[in-house]
Amino acid sequence: MKIVYKTPVVEMQGDEMTRILWDWIKDILIEPYVELNTEFYDLGIDNREKTADKVTTDAAEAIKKYGVGVKCATITPNAQRVEEYGLSKMWLSPNGTIRAALDGTVFRTPIMVRGITPYIPSWTSPITIARHAYGDIYKNSEIRVDGAAQCSLSVKYADGRTENKSIVDLDGAGILQGVHNKDASIYSFARSCFNYALDVRQDVWFGTKDTISKTYDHRFKDIFRDVFDGEYKGKFEKAGIRYEYSLIDDSVARVIRSNGGFIWALKNYDGDVMSDMVATAYGSLAMMTSVLVSPDGNYEYEAAHGTVTRHYYRHLKGETTSTNPVATIFAWTGALNRRGETENNKALSEYAANMENACKATIERGVMTGDLVPMFKRDGIIAKSVSTREFLKEISATYENM
Ligand code: NAP
Ligand code: MG
Repeated sequence: MKIVYKTPVVEMQGDEMTRILWDWIKDILIEPYVELNTEFYDLGIDNREKTADKVTTDAAEAIKKYGVGVKCATITPNAQRVEEYGLSKMWLSPNGTIRAALDGTVFRTPIMVRGITPYIPSWTSPITIARHAYGDIYKNSEIRVDGAAQCSLSVKYADGRTENKSIVDLDGAGILQGVHNKDASIYSFARSCFNYALDVRQDVWFGTKDTISKTYDHRFKDIFRDVFDGEYKGKFEKAGIRYEYSLIDDSVARVIRSNGGFIWALKNYDGDVMSDMVATAYGSLAMMTSVLVSPDGNYEYEAAHGTVTRHYYRHLKGETTSTNPVATIFAWTGALNRRGETENNKALSEYAANMENACKATIERGVMTGDLVPMFKRDGIIAKSVSTREFLKEISATYENM
């Protein structure tokens, strides 16, 4: 008998190779065991074009309504994509739209398996990156100044007050950038990190450059301190976990020397850069989970990688590809586990945990997609590269035999 649950999960289909993987995963690993109840949104580029991107905002609203979503990788259009797909507009990044709507924090955790050793061998436990997903250079305003100029910051308050501050008197051409963040968003970021830490019982490390950026970065530091002392200190003590703040450069050094097993909270840009470093050090983006958590407790699961365009073109030519589906499978199991938690549905949560273990166990017995083969080293086991579909069937066999 299939596992059933009550409240729909928001399902967001995507693009290219991951769109193909999506259906195969449902077919081979989910639908034989779970009676899927989803509200479906097609975020594929053709449907975003057809709906003038309304489908993306509708999907974001649905996540707020149902609390749990799972998203396939999608194309973020650039000039070349506009031409390739005949788009009427360079539609915004769906991830950006959804992040803005949920005001969330993105948590990324490497999926560790025996046989794949991180480049930093002392990282024996996963490091979870918590990236602030609002503001800074991602919502900047820039000016190319083409000659000598006086440049200043100016603020005009709603009540008419004004404030001006010189940035620089340029003696020749240069560049200028304005960035911002919001107290409300930083408060949410802090709460999301501390809530997640309590969920997984891990320490939180946070770092900024507050010695140089005495107002901007310092505000992040103060808000985290304020939220921690005011709302979380007791809960952390009870859970036996800690919050530690240090300068971002000290943080980086300590992370390298650590054994992992903590949440590394990072400002938007730091999180962007460090998540690629951490993913690479642990193996690959295809072996990483990614979840957007909003301060009011909505969860959106996705894979951290893109639509794997190169593999898609090979697939279209009729070639068999060996695209790694693990991150996309974990997006599904993450969402179904979360739904299991919200409905106190043990069978659903157990299914999700077992399916994740089946993925890991399949790789650990030497069966994997091509990207993992060069990284795999385990005594007495020779890594075998299989196609995506073969890999999914092997996972299914592992699951059946558990
Ligand atoms: P990508 O899709 O992540 O792929 C880059 C390369 O990484 C691939 O060509 C492949 O290398 C390897 N790779 C990534 N995922 C893999 C997997 N699951 N299995 C095996 N190999 C994998 O990044 P991209 O090519 O820069 O971007 C393609 C599209 O994805 C773009 O349109 C971009 O806008 C979009 N994108 C979406 C998201 C998202 O929705 N979250 C995130 C990033 C990018 P080899 O070719 O060497 O095998
Ligand atoms: Mg990046």
